[in-house]
Amino acid sequence: MRYVVTLIIVLCLVCWAGVSQRHRILIEFLSSGEPPPLLDAADEGAETTWYDDYFTIEALGPRTYAIGEPRYAQQNYSYLIIGSERAVLFDAGPGFRDIRGVVESLTEQPVTFVPSHFHYDHTGNTVTFERVAVVDLPYIRERARSNVLTLTWAEHLGSSEGVALPTLKIDEWLAPDSIMSLGDRRLRVLYTPGHTTDSISLLDMGTGMLFSGDFIYPGPLYAFLPNSSMGDYMYAAENVLANASEGSRIFGAHRVAPPGAPELALSDVKDLKASLEQIQAGTASADGLYPREYMVNEQLWLLAEPAWLQEWALTVNR
Ligand SMILES: [Zn+2]
Repeated sequence: MRYVVTLIIVLCLVCWAGVSQRHRILIEFLSSGEPPPLLDAADEGAETTWYDDYFTIEALGPRTYAIGEPRYAQQNYSYLIIGSERAVLFDAGPGFRDIRGVVESLTEQPVTFVPSHFHYDHTGNTVTFERVAVVDLPYIRERARSNVLTLTWAEHLGSSEGVALPTLKIDEWLAPDSIMSLGDRRLRVLYTPGHTTDSISLLDMGTGMLFSGDFIYPGPLYAFLPNSSMGDYMYAAENVLANASEGSRIFGAHRVAPPGAPELALSDVKDLKASLEQIQAGTASADGLYPREYMVNEQLWLLAEPAWLQEWALTVNR
C-alpha cells in the first residue's frame, strides 16, 4: 500500500512540475491566506530590549540596530543603519505592525527604506516610507513608469498571508556594486540573487558588517520559490566572498529560535558555496521530495527543487 501511495504522489508531482504555475499551486495549497498567530514572547537575552509587546531593539554597534519581530511566525529582523546625514532601514517586516515608531525612537535622521527583496514579509506593505530605494535592474526599471512600481504576485507572495500587493514610490535606484552614502558611513550594494532575482545585501564599508536579507540566515534558505535560481545563488555566494572580509559579522532577515538577532560569519557563506558546488555536481545528499533539503552546516540548510528542475544559469543580466 505504501508503495502505491508513493507512486501516486510521485506521478502527481511529475504532472504538477510540468505546470509552469507549480509555485503558485504549491504556495496557495500550503498557506492559510491569513496572518499567522503570534508566537509567545521569549527571553531575548540581556542585549535586547522590548520596544513594546511586539518589536525588539538590539544595538549591534554604534548607530546600528537590529529591530526584531520575534513574535511573528517568520521571526523577521530589520536593520537600522544611521549615518551623519541620513539613515537606512533595511527591510520593514510584513507590516502587520508599523515599524516606523521604533525607527523614530532611535534616530532623527531622514530614513530611506531599502527592501532586501520584494517578498511581503520585508516590504512593510501598508506602512509607507518617505523615501524608498530599490535595486536597479533593467527589468524592474522598465516596469516602474514615473518611478512607481507595483509588485507582481510572484515577487511578493503576500496572498499566502492575506497581504495585498503594494505599490512602491521609488526615490532612489541602487545599482549593483554602487555605494550608498549616509554621510560619514558608506554602504556597498551587493547583488545577491538566488532566493529571488531582486535580492540585495548591504555591506557596511566601515565596520565590515553585512546585512544579508534572505540570501543567508540561520535556518532554512528558500531556493525553490518563484524567481529563485540555484545559479543565481552561486553568484551571490561568490559575490559576498569577493567583497566581505574574514571578520565580517553577517546579519540575516530571519531566525528560527531566540535569543537575539540572527548572526552568521563568512565561514557560513563558504559552507553555502561548497554545498552549492556539491549540489550542482550531483554529489550532495538531500532529504524530502519537494523541496529537497540539503544540509549546509549545523546552522543552515538549503531548500531547493529536485535536481532535474534546478536552474544553474545566471537568470538576470545585470
Ligand atoms: Zn524572501
